[in-house]
Amino acid sequence: MWSFNIFKNEKLKFVLNAGGALVLDEHFELMLDENVTGNEKRFILSASDPRFSKIQAVTISPLSGAKYTINGEEEEKITHLEDEDKFDVSAVTYQVRFSSKKAKTGFWLKTQKVKDASHVDLNGWMDPGKGFMYFCPEDQGAFSSPVVYFFDMDHTIIKPKSGGKFPENASDWIWWHKIVPERLHRLRTTGARIIFISNQKSMETDVTLKDEFQEKIRQIQDKLGFEFEVCVASGSGMFRKPSPGIFHFLKEYMKLDPKSCLMVGDAAGRPACKISGKKKDFSASDRNFAVNCGLDFRTPEEFFNSQVSKYKEADLKIKPNAARALKDNSIKFNKSSDLIHDILKRKKSLIIFTGYPGCGKSTFAKTLTRSFPEVAILCRDEIGSTQKCIKLCKEALHIGKSVVVDATNPDIASRQKYLEIAHELDLDSIISLFFDVEIDLAMHNCRYRAITGGAVIKDMILYSHRKKFEAPSRSEGFTDTISIPFEPKFESNFETQLYYSHLP
Ligand SMILES: [Mg+2]
Repeated sequence: MWSFNIFKNEKLKFVLNAGGALVLDEHFELMLDENVTGNEKRFILSASDPRFSKIQAVTISPLSGAKYTINGEEEEKITHLEDEDKFDVSAVTYQVRFSSKKAKTGFWLKTQKVKDASHVDLNGWMDPGKGFMYFCPEDQGAFSSPVVYFFDMDHTIIKPKSGGKFPENASDWIWWHKIVPERLHRLRTTGARIIFISNQKSMETDVTLKDEFQEKIRQIQDKLGFEFEVCVASGSGMFRKPSPGIFHFLKEYMKLDPKSCLMVGDAAGRPACKISGKKKDFSASDRNFAVNCGLDFRTPEEFFNSQVSKYKEADLKIKPNAARALKDNSIKFNKSSDLIHDILKRKKSLIIFTGYPGCGKSTFAKTLTRSFPEVAILCRDEIGSTQKCIKLCKEALHIGKSVVVDATNPDIASRQKYLEIAHELDLDSIISLFFDVEIDLAMHNCRYRAITGGAVIKDMILYSHRKKFEAPSRSEGFTDTISIPFEPKFESNFETQLYYSHLP
């Protein structure tokens, strides 16, 4: 678990543990629980929590018009501060420093109570994770029912009054159908729990959209006359539908214990309909979210207008889940892995990797580093350029080290430079290790990596790899070619569940 030290003029002022929050007054002094009144709160400092985020950051949220200065500019919006970042409040300088840089792996740990007043701002909103906003109703009765209705918002509950696809401002909405408020009221009367769940990625780049969205929710709640929970995926991480992150958050921290659960949404993967002229759904993220979380699913037409579903599963435009199609490859994986270990144990070798990004190359290279600290493992992404890799390869082989080249090396030309060096030195063990993974699985793996805090790899890079690809063969000058399948490894149940989900 990480924590943060907040320094005031170079003197330690606060210690903020992961997931914790401090309520501060206008002088940036801590407000203790008993004397906190709404009007005196000026700032909330909250620390990111490794259960939800791999980013180590402190968030400063100014309230009621409070301002602070960062990089000489006055600011009144929420900012994420990272290690060494400085900011000023009332002309006093504060700095954020990590007291521990090592993040605990596995971000879904034991159930803990996170719902305490310091997390929720005056308007009922909280930021429980990176790319996630949650509205917490004041009425505790809202949490008591095991009967839960999840609703997508846009084109399910409301639609733009202006008639376009996207709303123009906070007031640009009407009910999706006039029956919607009546049905919501009826659900509310039965005591059911109502949770809106909305993807709003554009908030990542345009912070004004957050205020607009919150204002719209206030208007909808005003019209309905009651509050309900709202989950907003405001970024591209694990909380974005269809990823099941929000469902896990509610289960772990917001007393969700669904005995009966239904998801209603318009992103259902429906094909275009020639008769009605209806366009195909822009995605299947609502339906896939339901699949990922094990919920029943209805489209708005089915739920509000009692239409009978006319779509067979086979008609739906849903991409198969490459991870779920993955077979148990452990025997073959271990066999190839043992072979490589044997080779490195026995003789000086050059091992050249080939494979898509996201096919397990660097993970495998790391296991080699642990077993063979004396071997030069050259990771192209860490070294920065292929030229540098080639230079380091030459140097290492010259001083008698074995070398492993961890790069995508899709074609003969990319591997030839390394082979030439090996041949110059008369090396008699030149191995190709091919990570045998189909593009769909590599794409899924890249998505999984990106939403769990890793690098973002665009699909284009994978397509370009596929285009260039030439299978490694002995005719290029390898003394042996070995292939290795993909074998996923997890550190927690949540990781396992997330991996086998449909991902955004
Ligand atoms: Mg929608």
